[in-house]
Amino acid sequence: MNLVDLRSDTVTRPTAAMRAAMAAAEVGDDVFADDPTVNALQERIAAMLGKEAALFVPSGTQSNLCALMSHCQRGDEALVGQMAHLYRYEAGGMAVLGSIQPQPLPQQPDGTLLLSDIAAAIKPDDAHFGRTRLLCLENTWNGQVLAQSYLDEATALARRRGLATHLDGARLFNAVVASGRPVQEITRPFDSVSVCFSKGLGAPVGSALCGSKELIARAHRVRKMLGGGMRQAGVLAAAAMHALDHHVDRLADDHANARRLADGLGGIDGITVVRPDTNIVFASVAGERTVALLAHLKQRGVLATGLIGLRFVTHLDVDTAGVDRTVAAVSEFMSA
Ligand SMILES: *Cc1c(COP(=O)(O)O)cnc(C)c1O
Repeated sequence: MNLVDLRSDTVTRPTAAMRAAMAAAEVGDDVFADDPTVNALQERIAAMLGKEAALFVPSGTQSNLCALMSHCQRGDEALVGQMAHLYRYEAGGMAVLGSIQPQPLPQQPDGTLLLSDIAAAIKPDDAHFGRTRLLCLENTWNGQVLAQSYLDEATALARRRGLATHLDGARLFNAVVASGRPVQEITRPFDSVSVCFSKGLGAPVGSALCGSKELIARAHRVRKMLGGGMRQAGVLAAAAMHALDHHVDRLADDHANARRLADGLGGIDGITVVRPDTNIVFASVAGERTVALLAHLKQRGVLATGLIGLRFVTHLDVDTAGVDRTVAAVSEFMSA
């Protein structure tokens, strides 16, 4: 029985066409800036996002850390969401490796930080305090698309107060496809943007950090320091190129599958579902039955996670039949 793996959109396997593109990639030593495929990818993604330059890095975690360490000096402070990936799920890298002090702020249910919380957290220029340097936002957050008016207002506030701004756009293209907004409208107000090729875009490895030439030059040194300088990385950049060619528009299919899953689960007694904006469906089960439900699903060849409620993520390797099998397995468990 083939698995329906809804644990994450990182579980996708490169398609045959993507593997062919990787095998055919022209390569060089990227540490000497000699890899033509990496160079082409960096130019392409920078132009797409409306930034001067880009840097190809092995992971989203390293991309965010390169951004943080390029914007901030030791002892500087970054304003981050309490549940933001770069604060909560990156092993404390900004503090451990960057000596950057995170100032976490509570996130509203839609992923935003209140403007009043941001304003109140910016420290005065006084020897008692770290220098507040950077505001970090995440879009999509938990699969939700942040409102453009919010992104514009929060970044404008940061700029007025002399802060730089970073967007963790690991799933930026999900936000683009779901909202129908041009990508540059979303990225324009940010000084730097990180985007992952290895999530819904389906590449095996890789993220890009985009920003000004000056910022990316600093990030280039940080990447080397973090061990992220890769050699014939064109085989990986070719996968990302292929993803940009073929896997952006089709994110709409993942979103449709997520809605189909939410609709199906929503019809089952005892299951509460949050309507998805993009490809992530959160649900909860009445009583303390999450662990038992996950075990039942596993027996039926369906994988999901239960860390923050039930979470199902649709992607390239999940089709409508897999979605329907998932709904049937949940229904079977709930009516047992
Ligand atoms: C996955 C993810 C990252 C980190 O990417 P890795 O490649 O797993 O290091 C960063 N931010 C968000 C929002 C993510 O979902």
